[in-house]
Amino acid sequence: MTRRPGFPARLDLSPAAPAAKAAAKRGPTPPVAPQGLGMDSSAVRARMVRKLAQEGIADPAVLAAMGTVERHRFVDTALVNQAYEDTSLPIGLGQTISKPSVVARMIELLLGGRRDANGRLGRVLEVGTGCGYQAAVLACVANEVYSVERLRGLHDKARDNLRPLRLANVHLLFGDGMAGYPKGAPYAGIIAAAGGEAVPGTWIDQLAEGARIVAPMALADGRQSLVVLEKTNGRVKQTVLETVHFVPLKSGIA
Ligand code: SAH
Repeated sequence: MTRRPGFPARLDLSPAAPAAKAAAKRGPTPPVAPQGLGMDSSAVRARMVRKLAQEGIADPAVLAAMGTVERHRFVDTALVNQAYEDTSLPIGLGQTISKPSVVARMIELLLGGRRDANGRLGRVLEVGTGCGYQAAVLACVANEVYSVERLRGLHDKARDNLRPLRLANVHLLFGDGMAGYPKGAPYAGIIAAAGGEAVPGTWIDQLAEGARIVAPMALADGRQSLVVLEKTNGRVKQTVLETVHFVPLKSGIA
């Protein structure tokens, strides 16, 4: 397994989670103790990873990343106990964090594209930072992660969530991801956490040869499906996969 040296250690040794700090300030341990989960979370995560493997996630790099990133640090304290269930959770401003099986599935599909000699992706673009969870998972499998969010409140929240993890390879950007992020192009992978009617042409333009876009997209029948677009010799091949339920891809910032 190739990992950036020190990356998992930094995650594990990072200062107490904000949730745990807040709980400490509140005084006596509440009946449902977020800091308790913080301490035992590796076992809970290992169980989640075993389930993901049983359900068909096979890429060891993806499973390792899912086992490393502490999802409970990215959700509200009231939801901490659901953090390792395979469920999407609200993250504020009407948006949701995808369920772990969908995050793992999409990153596995992304890794099916262009990788470097170490089996890692090079530069990756994520559209829809949300709470920053998926960006942290991507940081385990890609050399650089550019993540764009159109809602200021969530961009700020992701910054707060990611700060204690000190991931030098994650770059958070506030803006409209429909335009991609030309400065980081070409990308070894583009992943969207919000679904539109079509995949913007700008993303295809910013994609490297042999790389993939993994995104939810509305089909003619109104259902939303996961699609994979792969660029080979300048041509784009589209594969439509399973039905998914993502928040809408919107234009502009707010
Ligand atoms: N990957 C996120 C999931 C967030 S939900 C996580 O791990 O938490 C999808 C996000 O996409 C929402 O925060 C929404 O505001 C954002 N979004 C929708 N359209 C966008 C656009 N055009 N550019 C950037 N972000 C967008």
